[in-house]
Amino acid sequence: MSITKEITRSLDAAERLNPELNSFLSIESDPALKTAKELEANNDHLPLKGLAIAVKDNICTKGMQTTCGSRILANYKAHFDATAVERLKQAGAIVIGKTNMDEFAMGSSNETSAFGEVKNPWDTTRVPGGSSGGSAVAVASGVVKAALGSETGGSVRQPAALCGVVGFKPTYGRISRYGLVAFASSLDNIGIFGRTTKNVAEVLSVIAGRDEHDSTSGAVAVPDFAAGLEHPIAGKTIGIPRALFGEGLDAEVRDSVLRAIENFKDLGCKTVDIELPYAKYGIAVYYIIATAEASSNLARFDGVRYGFRAEDAHELRKMYFKTREEGFGAEVKRRIMLGTYVLSSGYYDAYYSKAQKVRALVKQDYINAFQKCDVILTPTAPGTAFEFGAKTADPIAMYLNDIFTVSANLAGVPAISVPCGLSSEGLPIGVQLVGDFWAESELFQMAHAYENAHSLDAKPAIYAS
Ligand code: GLN
Repeated sequence: MSITKEITRSLDAAERLNPELNSFLSIESDPALKTAKELEANNDHLPLKGLAIAVKDNICTKGMQTTCGSRILANYKAHFDATAVERLKQAGAIVIGKTNMDEFAMGSSNETSAFGEVKNPWDTTRVPGGSSGGSAVAVASGVVKAALGSETGGSVRQPAALCGVVGFKPTYGRISRYGLVAFASSLDNIGIFGRTTKNVAEVLSVIAGRDEHDSTSGAVAVPDFAAGLEHPIAGKTIGIPRALFGEGLDAEVRDSVLRAIENFKDLGCKTVDIELPYAKYGIAVYYIIATAEASSNLARFDGVRYGFRAEDAHELRKMYFKTREEGFGAEVKRRIMLGTYVLSSGYYDAYYSKAQKVRALVKQDYINAFQKCDVILTPTAPGTAFEFGAKTADPIAMYLNDIFTVSANLAGVPAISVPCGLSSEGLPIGVQLVGDFWAESELFQMAHAYENAHSLDAKPAIYAS
């Protein structure tokens, strides 16, 4: 198919499905078609030439809106491209639009977006997961083959699992965060959705690597991740933290993940029981560190420099107050309050400083585990997609959705979620593989081999052919 035809197909599908799914906050037809024509007219070989891509709306895209799913940035247009976006464009990919998300990436269901909820294409009465639900749905519904999301505690892997696509979070520092609007800087990563692991590997090969605009990006060699995918996985050792397979885990999810373990054995892998003793503190530690960093990062939204400014506030402090009161939603306010509380002088040692110590122990768990195994396997999410409203009244129940994903962010290790079947209600289930620092190649080889043998052939009810 010609580039223009493929981009037209993608844009049409996005326009057609959006009234029902609400996965895009903006669809950028004119610039996308213009670039498609330009690319078609030149003969350069580019690695992602003509690939339609959707980008989460907290990643800056020059001249396009970047709202972070928030009223406070409703009219904000970025004046530069995030490094990841710039590299994608240089490789010939075409951004077709910006995707809906939980406000400032805070949430696990997309219900905190200021611009309405995203629907799961497998069952539109259910959430797509979050916070990168729009990007997950853009891939799951067949609009694009790949999309960018962001990960602070599971926001790519969890919606990937709930929508039946592949979702990947890199080693911290693998992908530049320049142009990713900060939520919790020590945990934030740009992540990638793909229909297959190969889609993810191709995108990572292009966007990874040191960037002088982000001092935390690693000067680590970037291999061609897609070229190494067929490397045999027989003989690899998979660590299973069985203690995490107990309470709170849906029985069908457990069965599906246990079946995936057997499937890996059939592919020649060995398994070993491991322990991640501090993983059970992951959620508590995450919600202290993430909120502390968020309260500081979000201080910049005060009505002076960016986006929304409240009207009828004629004095500086009133203007700050009213802008933030009107501009932020309830979950963002909750996080800012929690964050300022754990950082306040009376409580700093009891909460923030203690959480940092436990974070170091969570990381040490992984370092110890990787002495015994090549990758670690767990469920991605404790259940399948839930109904809208099911957890909105209980923030803790919502936070527990990230129980299997947050510790990889706390430790900084890479992880991927791959579809591993459907529940009896026909809802997707994901299995998570966690890799050692910078060992993305190995992670992709494992995911790819599994996918080749056990791909999810079913399509969601809403799918653009
Ligand atoms: N669901 C988690 C939260 O609400 C993780 C979000 C994320 O990874 N951005 O903070």
